[in-house]
Amino acid sequence: MKKQTQAIHLPYKRRDAYDALSMPIYNAVAYEFDNAEVMADAFCGRIDAPDYSRVENPTVTNFELRVKALTGAEHVIALNSGMAAISNTLFAIVEQGKNVITSRHLFGNTFSLLTSTLSRFGVETKLCDLTNVDAVEKLVDDNTCCLFLEVMTNPQLEVVDVRALTEMAHRHGIPVIADTTIIPFTQFSAKDLGVDVEVISSTKYISGGATSLGGLIIDYGRFPFIGKRLLNEMLFNLGSYMTPQVAYMQTLGLETLDARYRVQAANALALAKRLCTLKPICNVNYVGLEDNRYHQLSLRQYGETAGAMITIDLESQEACFKLLNNLKLIHRATNLFDNRTLAIHPASTIFGLFSAEERAAMDILDTTIRLSVGLEDVDDLFNDIKQALEA
Ligand SMILES: *Cc1c(COP(=O)(O)O)cnc(C)c1O
Repeated sequence: MKKQTQAIHLPYKRRDAYDALSMPIYNAVAYEFDNAEVMADAFCGRIDAPDYSRVENPTVTNFELRVKALTGAEHVIALNSGMAAISNTLFAIVEQGKNVITSRHLFGNTFSLLTSTLSRFGVETKLCDLTNVDAVEKLVDDNTCCLFLEVMTNPQLEVVDVRALTEMAHRHGIPVIADTTIIPFTQFSAKDLGVDVEVISSTKYISGGATSLGGLIIDYGRFPFIGKRLLNEMLFNLGSYMTPQVAYMQTLGLETLDARYRVQAANALALAKRLCTLKPICNVNYVGLEDNRYHQLSLRQYGETAGAMITIDLESQEACFKLLNNLKLIHRATNLFDNRTLAIHPASTIFGLFSAEERAAMDILDTTIRLSVGLEDVDDLFNDIKQALEA
């Protein structure tokens, strides 16, 4: 079956007692066993049966199995946020005295997790330019435990050569973790690009219009110790498993993901082209534009579409605030890939608590507005931005 058919028709692991067509929400904490022997077998993993919903729940398992079918993963673990997926994965890999190689162009909380939280446990983070593979290779040493990258950075929209980085890392025996939140797995195969563990904020595209927070760890099994620690240690000890209510909503989101994404990506491209014609906008950054410096690399790695995030630059922070305050349709909100179009000034919000020097090092400019393009008609979106600039 093709991906889109699987996303909708993958059979349930066990037939529902009432033959419910959509997977019911099993809002149960614990599960009863016929006898003590079966109970012991379940707890020790000798038989496949849920015992406690902090580590296994039928509704969540169903969501995980669909993602597994769509990605060809060895293990998929659904957790309660994107940050839970990232932190659980890193906790399964890092050790005191080891180092992680990554970029300054990183989701703000991931940056803080690495440079503040994990540094308190004796883990070093080496920050470098991941677009320069030779420079990255020079940082690899005997204590390097992983390379962490984002497939398209937020909000810089930088694209790294994923295959070149994974080939280099694998020559040194190092796993590569990729945050693929910005381009859904229905569009490209991170596994084929050599990624070892994919982490995703399913809060974004997959949730089906900002219905719920969630995260996914998609482990391709090339480094078996990672899956083992995740399933036997992190899942139990960190307690971040997804709830059945969220899994229900995100399974529905998964069924419409491809359809919604195609419209949002097409809207983003059409809007980006039209924004280029507006005088007060100094720069339109969208990887789908042919003159974007990452366009060819993105085409090769991620296919025809380039996501639904655009950034625009105006002449000053005041001009950005004025535009945001004059919007009538587009919402002033964080989050990405809601059905609605959202706008935010990253420097004063998501990165507002970083110092000016830190923001400069991360290429977060005071003049940038980030747009997450939704499912509205592009004429309405364009007209809203145009009137807000003219107001
Ligand atoms: C939103 C986001 C996260 C964090 O996800 P949450 O679900 O909010 O915890 C991580 N990485 C990227 C690229 C994101 O956009």
